[in-house]
This record gives sequence, C-alpha cells and structure tokens, in this order.
Amino acid sequence: MIVDLQNLTKVFPSRNKKEKEMVTAVSDFTFTIPDGKLVGLLGPSGCGKSTTLYMICGLQKPSSGKIFFGDNDVTQLPPESRGVGLVFQNYALYPHMTVKQNIMFPLQNLKGADKLDKDEMLKRTVEVARIVQIDDLLERKPNELSGGQQQRVAIARALVKMPRVLLLDEPLSNLDARLRLQTREEIRRIQRETGITTVFVTHDQEEAMSISDMIVVMKKGVVQQTGHPQDVYNSPENLFVAKFLGTPPINVFDATVRSGKVYIGDEAVIDVPDVPDQEVIVGIRPEGFIVRPEGRFHCALNGVEVMGRDVSLVMNHPAMNVPVIRAIIDADVTVDPEATEVGFDIKRNKIFLFEKETEARIFFEV
Ligand code: ATP
Repeated sequence: MIVDLQNLTKVFPSRNKKEKEMVTAVSDFTFTIPDGKLVGLLGPSGCGKSTTLYMICGLQKPSSGKIFFGDNDVTQLPPESRGVGLVFQNYALYPHMTVKQNIMFPLQNLKGADKLDKDEMLKRTVEVARIVQIDDLLERKPNELSGGQQQRVAIARALVKMPRVLLLDEPLSNLDARLRLQTREEIRRIQRETGITTVFVTHDQEEAMSISDMIVVMKKGVVQQTGHPQDVYNSPENLFVAKFLGTPPINVFDATVRSGKVYIGDEAVIDVPDVPDQEVIVGIRPEGFIVRPEGRFHCALNGVEVMGRDVSLVMNHPAMNVPVIRAIIDADVTVDPEATEVGFDIKRNKIFLFEKETEARIFFEV
C-alpha cells in the first residue's frame, strides 16, 4: 500500500488563554511512502513525529492537506475504517487475558461483513503469533512475559487484523538497551516477512538508521530531508541534519573560506576553488580524520580512548563549536597518548560546509 501525504499541516489552538499563539505541530508535510517499505520518522522531542503518525492513522485530523492510501483519499475517514495497525510506546495489554486472548481481541470486535468465525480467528491468531515468535506463549498472562515478549504481543495484536499500514510510535522506548537492539531487528524481520508498509517513529537516530528503508528527518514540524539513511548521512542538506545523524556526532567548527581555501583558525584544511569567500560553519565526521603529523589541520590532544575495534582521539581546538572533538582512527595507527597535538589531513567526502546564516549546505567538488 502506497501512502501519499500531501501538504499535511496540523495547527493546535493554544492551551493557554494568555498566549494567543497557535502551535504548528506539523507544517506542509509532503512525502510518499513506497509500498511495502519501512519509513523512519525521526527528529528531536516535539518536532511533530507523533502528530504526523496520528494523522496517518486518523486519531488527529489535519488542519489542511490530504492523505491517500493507494488511490483512496482517507483524510476524513475514522481510524477504524483505514485498516491501520498501531503500536504505542505504552502498549497496554489486558492483564487478565492470556496472550492468545489479547491478540484475538481486535478480531472479536469486527462487525458485519468483516466478522470472522471462531476457527478463523484462532487460525489468524496462531499465524501472527508464529510471525512474532511467541506461539509457544499463547496461554500465558502478560505478567508472565518479559518486556520484549510483551512488545511482540502488542505487535501481533496490531498485525492480526491484517492492516494495510502498520504504525509504530516509539515502540522500543520501554525496553533496555540489549532488548531494544534485538526487538528492532525483530521488527525489521516481521516487516519484511509481512511486506506491510510501515511507519516507525523514533527520536533515536541509530535506531531509525539501522532498520529503515527511508528516513524522514523533522525539525519543528518541518521536514528537513528524506532519503535512504546512508545517503542522508553521507550528504546532509543542512547543519541540523548533519548534527542529528551519527554517533559520535559530527565535529563542528567556525571557519572562513578565503581564496578557495577553508581556514579553521589559521590552517587551510582543504581547497574549495569553486566556493566564494565567506564565513562558514564546517562539519567534519569523526571518521574523516587521517592522522598525518605534517597534515593540514592540528588539534590539541586530550586523550586516546580504545574501545574494542575503534580508537577514538578526544581533542579540542579554539574554533570548535562543540564541547569536544572526536576522531575515530584506524586501530593500526599509533598515536602517542602523551602527545599534546595531533596533525591530520581531512577526507574531502567527510567534511561539509554550511552557510553561516541559513545553515544550508554549501556544495563543492569532492
Ligand atoms: P516526542 O518525541 O516528545 O513525542 P514529537 O516529535 O512526537 O515529540 P508531537 O507530539 O507531534 O512531537 O508534538 C509536536 C508539537 O505539537 C509539540 O510542540 C507539542 O507540544 C504540540 N502538541 C501536540 N499535541 C498537542 C495538542 N493536543 N494540543 C496542543 N499542542 C500539541
């Protein structure tokens, strides 16, 4: 099912009588979710992710704009007529019901032509339980399950009505780190196996990047960039997107372009013959540093951290715009931890320039 979002805007009236201002939670959101894909809606708290999801499922009506499922305009349809499955962060299971009864519950409420007989309900319940791999737990009560197993019951409950679109709102937030990792891979597998078009809301960029076919990065209700996660990481269109994606985060500096060279402090770190003279903001990904004592850029060394495969240099520089600079270097390159300074050359495809005022990307030949 293709989901087409056209110019969606949601404005909430102010709750505070003194403040007349309205809250624009989502502004002119246009995006087509391809059939059978998993799309991650990503952005910091309050950027409008949940509101977008609720408009897709019908819990919120857009102030303007349209939503199509395939050729059908569903903008005015109530949630129960849209054929969506929704999993919330707080997936309340019915504590007095078994897993089987919990999953089957939505089917028992089907009316009219959709009504199913008991055998069919059971068949579907067992089938989705198998997909989420809890078919051996059907007779248990929720309090006899782990957090991850409970989450799978919630997903099974959303899947059992065979939704056309599956919507997941921060479904992993209540799980511990290990279980999060495991469950997100599960969600990916389930999504692939069922082929249901899925929207996944999260503020965790790593989570979104690891399981999504496409991501939509939002800021203050406005879409900043959409695309394949790796493409967005490799080519952010503005400073916000560059800073939001990546762990450790991108290193940011105040800099100047003069006579075709980018100066950080008084060092010309790369040549950009096609960029006019101006003040800029520079972002360098942690993996963009090549250790070279006679290199074009030098930072003061604070420490060397060895974490498994990675060697991380923790540094500072007078022009930095972040609390600390982190460079991830090859484990076979030796850096003296006692050194006060480290020299680098910078990989051209790992350094980005942004306009000082608008923070939009300034492109140059790589
Ligand atoms: P989070 O990650 O914290 O859940 P979010 O990105 O999902 O955030 P939304 O919940 O969509 O953000 O909220 C977007 C904006 O709209 C916020 O500023 C929020 O305060 C505001 N908002 C959301 N719901 C309402 C409402 N019912 N009335 C007024 N303002 C609202």
